[in-house]
Amino acid sequence: MGRSYGAAVRQISNVSASSNRSEMLDEPIRQVEAMAAAGGEPVLVLGGGLLGLATAHALARRGERVLVLSRRRSEAAGFVAAGMLAPHAEGLEGPLLELGRRSLERIPGWVADIEADAGLSCGLWRCGIVVPFATAAERDAYPTTGHGIPLDRAGLEREVVGIGPRWRAGVLFLQDGQIDNRRRLMRALERACTALGVRFHEGTEVLGLDTAAGRLDGVWTLTVQGQEQRIASRRAVLSGGAWSARLLPNLPVVPIKGQMLSLQGPREALRRVVFGPGTYLVPRRDGLLVVGATSEPEAGFGDGLTPQGQRQLEEGIETLLPAAAHWPPMERWWGFRPGTPDQAPLLGPSAIEGLWLATGHYRNGVLLAAITAELISRELVGAGQADAGMGDLLRAFRWDRFQPSTRHT
Ligand SMILES: Cc1cc2nc3c(=O)[nH]c(=O)nc-3n(C[C@H](O)[C@H](O)[C@H](O)COP(=O)(O)OP(=O)(O)OC[C@H]3O[C@@H](n4cnc5c(N)ncnc54)[C@H](O)[C@@H]3O)c2cc1C
Repeated sequence: MGRSYGAAVRQISNVSASSNRSEMLDEPIRQVEAMAAAGGEPVLVLGGGLLGLATAHALARRGERVLVLSRRRSEAAGFVAAGMLAPHAEGLEGPLLELGRRSLERIPGWVADIEADAGLSCGLWRCGIVVPFATAAERDAYPTTGHGIPLDRAGLEREVVGIGPRWRAGVLFLQDGQIDNRRRLMRALERACTALGVRFHEGTEVLGLDTAAGRLDGVWTLTVQGQEQRIASRRAVLSGGAWSARLLPNLPVVPIKGQMLSLQGPREALRRVVFGPGTYLVPRRDGLLVVGATSEPEAGFGDGLTPQGQRQLEEGIETLLPAAAHWPPMERWWGFRPGTPDQAPLLGPSAIEGLWLATGHYRNGVLLAAITAELISRELVGAGQADAGMGDLLRAFRWDRFQPSTRHT
């Protein structure tokens, strides 16, 4: 609204001082003040899941001061995902395949940066992914088969020892792989962010955006102690995952629930990810087998496991790798993918000046974290994209691409 950032901070600080509440309650505001006093307006990251953390890290690496506001760590899909890095195995097409391939190329360097900043491993394993098919004709019709190594039944048995008898053909994508998001990547990202000075306010819900004349001016929040606050900022990234449309109702993001389970297998019983229809098996190096995933758009934000969902996974295990049906169970969990009408993310500027979008990554958010962090952080600091191709690619993921007037521009 034309007032300076410092003035906005002062105004909030006066309000909170007069409210006479405990110091704890004013924590986010004090963090903003401290950051402003230290010489820079912080960028607010709204949602500290996988994409929020990845973007916060990239911004901090570019010298930005960052404050992450996040409601609940445990609900983030970043802790739910199987961690497949699978643009080819997923059979992606068009600009989404291109985005996925570019992200896959960047992942080793991205992981190296996180590991250097965090001093922790992210659990990256370029183990290859096998997609099995009942017939060779099905395999040959798969959109990405040309990017992989075709397998016959003997080849399948070589790559996936003990694979079920139903599968007669397959494709091996050696370039695809996995990362241990649930146990390693998320923690390493949090540590890397902290090491670079990113501030977190966990347990803070962003209630709404404060705008003036189409420009972001701040956000309204509810602290974990139940206090409403306004935090001033003219730059923010919306990375609220499946909940993003609650802050910007015209965003076409809906929750797509997925249930998962894990088993403890013998070490190296499985060397490749097996990406079957309806069920996939992701072996970690220590023998843990992560099994996913249901896809339940009708569930909305309905919490919890269901017998039907768990049965789907158990039947998938029997079909893909019968021996694994005898391995001891470890955990069962669920979460919400941020789905969009074309199953591709919403990236870049929003309709509100100063608010960028990094959301809607649906079932490929782990894969796309590296390139999302790069694209959004470059845009936000005004660094431009690395090459013209990246700029064109980013345009394919604009939030308003579903609107008739912008569909062909
Ligand atoms: C079952 C399942 C399996 C998957 N497997 C894979 C896979 O193998 N490979 C792959 O690439 N991807 C996979 N994904 C997809 C991937 O997990 C998601 O695309 C990705 O995690 C989305 O990240 P995000 O940061 O957008 O959202 P999240 O990680 O969900 O984080 C969103 C965060 O924002 C916070 N938040 C929301 N609203 C607010 C608010 N108003 N105020 C404050 N905080 C807020 C939430 O509390 C949450 O912590 C899978 C997802 C699921 C559910």
